[in-house]
Amino acid sequence: MTNPLRNLFHDQPNFYEPNLIHMRFLTGLQPSGQLHIGNYFGAILPAVQLQNKGEAFYFIANYHAMTTMASPDELRANTRALAVDFLACGLDPQKAVFFAQSAVPEVNELAWILSTVCPMGLLERCHSYKEKMARGIAATHALFAYPALMAADILLYDSDAVPVGKDQKQHLEVTRDLAGKMNDAFGADLFKLPEPIISESTAIVPGLDGQKMSKSYGNALPIFGDEKEVRKLINKKIVTDATPLEDPKPTDGSIILALYKLFASPMQYDRMLDQHHSGGVGYGQFKKDLFEAYWEYFRPAREKRAWVLAHPEYVDDVLSTGAARAREEASKTLSRVRRAVGLA
Ligand code: AMP
Repeated sequence: MTNPLRNLFHDQPNFYEPNLIHMRFLTGLQPSGQLHIGNYFGAILPAVQLQNKGEAFYFIANYHAMTTMASPDELRANTRALAVDFLACGLDPQKAVFFAQSAVPEVNELAWILSTVCPMGLLERCHSYKEKMARGIAATHALFAYPALMAADILLYDSDAVPVGKDQKQHLEVTRDLAGKMNDAFGADLFKLPEPIISESTAIVPGLDGQKMSKSYGNALPIFGDEKEVRKLINKKIVTDATPLEDPKPTDGSIILALYKLFASPMQYDRMLDQHHSGGVGYGQFKKDLFEAYWEYFRPAREKRAWVLAHPEYVDDVLSTGAARAREEASKTLSRVRRAVGLA
């Protein structure tokens, strides 16, 4: 496997594919704290790869984060941290338009307009709202209306395609429904109906305990963890069985192997697999190999992150250029919509 982070410092030629070149992709990521490798393989890496294949609009979903986060300091810090980490992981502002959601407040007006055609039943059926309430998150209007804001995020930029995890698939259906209702009511060409890009190959990254990796399960491996902290997480949190060192080790359901596969070359992975079959190597060594592969994999991103952190003006500049470009698009769409609905 080639490490997609390896070429970060070199100008990669754009390899536009003819069928994708005119497509506009949109992805929003919530600034919900330290990013983990599930976020990386499930959301960040696909976004970084897509920026070479069309026009990418990527934003930090800080309005959305307000549905679950009350501290202004935390929201500010997490928004900044996500900008830094996304850039470190390969987001190229020459290719992608990168901005904070709140820098384009037009999105709220569109969300309101979409709300006027949004049946209550549509929102009531959304799993994510029910699931968040079950986790004890306050059932506010914003949490309930989240899919309408997400629809506005997507439609405001005339997005053609939205890469979504299975968890967000339903919200994209809401977006298409609302776009369809607006077109029926106010003109057939008002909105494009965005297509989901659902990558079946983006498997769920397991956490250190074997469940889905998630910040809320306390089983996450951070992308930019401190060396000691990550070694400790791998050593303490991955539970192994009592197979003696010299015996073969089970491979089915092995968390070490599943995680190692993400970072190691195919040759390294096959060697670890053979060592499981043959016996003679202990879990301590496997964990050490896993740490080393992880550490090596994210080395270029760590180096880039150190540079980005040392140049805060670069982040400011990227975000303000991105916001200006995003607002240009947003105001075009909003003028069109205002005229169509009778607000202009
Ligand atoms: P979250 O902040 O947990 O909502 O995650 C943001 C995005 O990261 C999700 O929509 C997924 O695309 C991705 N993601 C999070 N956890 C995982 C995981 N364990 N495996 C794969 N992708 C994940």
